[in-house]
Amino acid sequence: MKIENLCVDRLYGDVAGATTRGHKIAVKGGYIYQTFQGGYTLTPLGWSVVRKIENIIREEMNAIDGQEMLMPVVCGADLWKETGRYDSMDNIAKFKSRSGADYVICPTHEEVVTDYARSVIKSYRQMPFMVYQIQTKFRDELRVRAGLIRTREFIMKDGYSFHETQEDLEKYYKRCFDAYYKIYKRCGLKNVTDVMSATGDMGGKIAHEFQLINEMGEDTLYICDCGFRANKELEETDSTVCPKCGKTLNKVRGIEIGNIFQLGKKYTDSMHMTYTAEDGTEKTPIMGCYGIGVSRVMAAIIEESADDNGPIWNMETAPFAVEVIGLTDKEGKTLPKAEEIYNNLKSAGVEVLLDTRDNRAGEKFADADLISAPIRLIVSAKNMAQNQIEVKYRVNNYDTTNLPNTLDINNYSDTIKDLINELSKH
Ligand SMILES: [Zn+2]
Repeated sequence: MKIENLCVDRLYGDVAGATTRGHKIAVKGGYIYQTFQGGYTLTPLGWSVVRKIENIIREEMNAIDGQEMLMPVVCGADLWKETGRYDSMDNIAKFKSRSGADYVICPTHEEVVTDYARSVIKSYRQMPFMVYQIQTKFRDELRVRAGLIRTREFIMKDGYSFHETQEDLEKYYKRCFDAYYKIYKRCGLKNVTDVMSATGDMGGKIAHEFQLINEMGEDTLYICDCGFRANKELEETDSTVCPKCGKTLNKVRGIEIGNIFQLGKKYTDSMHMTYTAEDGTEKTPIMGCYGIGVSRVMAAIIEESADDNGPIWNMETAPFAVEVIGLTDKEGKTLPKAEEIYNNLKSAGVEVLLDTRDNRAGEKFADADLISAPIRLIVSAKNMAQNQIEVKYRVNNYDTTNLPNTLDINNYSDTIKDLINELSKH
């Protein structure tokens, strides 16, 4: 891709209404565009990052036997009336069709998936199973915040598992718990912790939130050296003493980037889902559900990784692996050379961006920091005279001291592929 065709218009200044550093960078870097209060367009650049996060999630969910599916975004109100959440959940967006039927824009899919499961699951032999989807959700939030951190519309991975016994649910819950840590690690997130949480609108008894500890977070967490962790909802605000060991609790801020619930029979009971057990009796399955805010993970990566100049993606989440920058010279040699290198890498299957615009070097470097390809190749008159390309790295998970700072201008493809592989290691 050529940088001028990226469909972004960087603002180079303060972004009106942006409340956190990450929000400013996401707008300034052209990753998101606010279409309405709490609803963002993901630009080609932002969508590219989100797709990469989605693929990490897919791989890890498939690895724990999850099966991807897709349920409707809009749903008739009947299923929601069946469980009572049509009236009890206050952030559901509701509307009427022209013929007067009630609809909801689903903020979550327990009702929809249970309706599906009750019609296809007849026997204990079909369990356990887990289905998940990656889809747009809508919540009628009263307030929005910090770009993609709290929005009305967002992309979410929501998974639902069905089990014969509580013991089997707990076994699967642990697998999912571990998979979440793998996902966050692959996304490059560092300060992730899990806290026990209240189950709220979801129901059930046991639930965990995954929180990125970050001063920009809107949640308050209480953490103790002994390992006790809880969120504000769970822990009484006036108690600052650890219920486990009696020491003073540390108060930190967190961005919630995932949650998992042991739902029990709340939905399968109220929606009358049964199956035939091995002993021939009719039984009710036990459910778990597993959410990750996909677009929020992108925002969280920016909040945690960014320096003053832009986000720092890792090789798995970066929109481009390599950016080739041609610095304009008097003889007119550098820009064609940069384009040649770009074309070669593109043919070799490398995700590569080209900047041969007629801008000052400083502007090109500033843009490169915002787009943040881990490998940056600079073609200048000075380097060309020595048959070299200059290499710079923008990573924070890898010590680059021993990586090359120059490449042979006539023989670079294999080295670049090796560098991409090397930087992909975690
Ligand atoms: Zn303690």
